[in-house]
Amino acid sequence: CGIVGIVGKEPVADRLVDALKRLEYRGYDSAGVATIHEGHLARRRAEGKLVNLARKLAADPLPGNVGIAHTRWATHGAPNETNAHPHIVDGVAVVHNGIIENFSELKEGLLAEGVTFDTQTDTEVVGQLIARNLRNGMGRRQAMQAMLREITGAYALAVIFADDPSTIMAARSGPPLAIGFGDGETYLGSDAIALAPLTNEITYLVDGDWAVIGREGAFIFDHEGNQIDRPRQITQAAA
Ligand code: GLU
Repeated sequence: CGIVGIVGKEPVADRLVDALKRLEYRGYDSAGVATIHEGHLARRRAEGKLVNLARKLAADPLPGNVGIAHTRWATHGAPNETNAHPHIVDGVAVVHNGIIENFSELKEGLLAEGVTFDTQTDTEVVGQLIARNLRNGMGRRQAMQAMLREITGAYALAVIFADDPSTIMAARSGPPLAIGFGDGETYLGSDAIALAPLTNEITYLVDGDWAVIGREGAFIFDHEGNQIDRPRQITQAAA
């Protein structure tokens, strides 16, 4: 339901939860955050309100300067901690807004290949497809693009990789997704409101776009993989 991400120069977990709070008005049943730290993905998730996630983070802080976070409004799979995003598969972490319409066919195919699933969500197929593509020898961008060619439905996605501590990949087909530009940091949000305290300079992805986001900005590609420019907008400062 709500997505935020930061490719930062300072720890991100608390800032990600603050950004999610600005999306609380949209409603949700659980929340989670994942960061990259020393070549590994680390994650905290909690059922219910963001205060539950914040409490877990206070008791057990999550280091890392790059991360993604999510508030979930369950469509497939019960609203519990197991099904809360981010989902992690073999060093790939994914958050998702929307519905992967063909997830059950994709899941059957992956199960037949011997893959095991941890959750009941439609979203997990995204992580499983990327992980399979990486196992088959694809690079990270290629693995992302090949996954996007397989899924149908409505989605905003953000993905981080344990072995790439300076990048978030994102994709949009339906639900909105905005990239925000800061000073040596770059942000991602499903709503510009989430990013208002961080930056007022944003670019909305267009349906079919996907992006590779780094500290100094973002490369945006259309559905055919051609790099494209999308206009930056200055939003009303509303911190
Ligand atoms: N369909 C996904 C799920 O149920 C994402 C729901 C959402 O947009 O929060 O996990």
